[in-house]
Amino acid sequence: MSRVAVVTGSNKGIGLEIVRGLCKQFDGIVYLTARNEKLGQEAVQKLKSEGLNPSFHQLDITNEQSIQALKQHLQDKHGGLDVLVNNAGFAYKGTDTTPFGIQAENSAGINFFGTLAASKALLPIIKPHGRVVNVSSQGSNMSLKKCSPDRQARFRDRSIQEEELVKLLNKFIETAKEGTNKKHGFSDSAYGMSKIGVTVLTFIQAREMEKDSREDILVNCMCPGWCKSDMGGWEKPTKTAADGADTALFLALLPPNTKEPQGQFFYDRKPIPF
Ligand code: NDP
Repeated sequence: MSRVAVVTGSNKGIGLEIVRGLCKQFDGIVYLTARNEKLGQEAVQKLKSEGLNPSFHQLDITNEQSIQALKQHLQDKHGGLDVLVNNAGFAYKGTDTTPFGIQAENSAGINFFGTLAASKALLPIIKPHGRVVNVSSQGSNMSLKKCSPDRQARFRDRSIQEEELVKLLNKFIETAKEGTNKKHGFSDSAYGMSKIGVTVLTFIQAREMEKDSREDILVNCMCPGWCKSDMGGWEKPTKTAADGADTALFLALLPPNTKEPQGQFFYDRKPIPF
């Protein structure tokens, strides 16, 4: 059976570059996924015109039905998957006037709760020697430093459970809506807090994977750096989206029977502290 890779949110930006890189380097089928079918198909056609051959499946990581449809497809057609890159993400522009509570809810809703939902469905069908890469951000590290010492200690505790992490992110949203998030020890970055969720989730998933009977599955997260994209902006970032994809590709393509890295945060192909 062919090996299978899935990249979330890959109709543009860094996700599209990860698909492009996997099409060139991964020995197997690569799924470009998008919440908007038309945008996804257009991206597939773009890569096909370059001589690459991605497959397509719709995926909105905030929609359980959409997640389950992808899972079913992967199970029926391929018996699971081998590489999952949780890249889909969202950030409000600094100038956006949407109330902070809504920004918190939507940012955490896509970046943290969406990644969690996609992972909960797909991690159980990852095959031995699988690789999971969560695209986080050093915005999570910056936000962590702005949290109270108590909150920092909880987020940094390597024995934290998923239930507690979910409660913390929900508490952030609740207090953001009341305007008391700082008083409750959270930062004032909706994006940063959502990516703390992604980073800490990675550590939890890696710990759980170590107890799993499936052999040699590695789960890591990374920051692409500030890259030119619709999210990062097109003027100021010095990195291209392809530069940003490099570390994700490195982690997704770690050779079989590599014992580590497991549960690490990477930037420029190197582990960095959280
Ligand atoms: P883009 O905005 O260019 O792309 C984001 C992708 O995520 C799009 O394909 C978007 O789809 C998709 N997406 C958003 N919401 C959902 C959803 N609910 N379900 C499925 N897909 C969704 O951003 P980048 O390429 O720059 O960002 C990619 C990742 O890298 C993100 O996780 C981001 O947080 C992270 N990152 C980016 C940095 C940068 O400087 N660019 C820096 C640090 C981290 P659609 O086109 O439909 O909106």
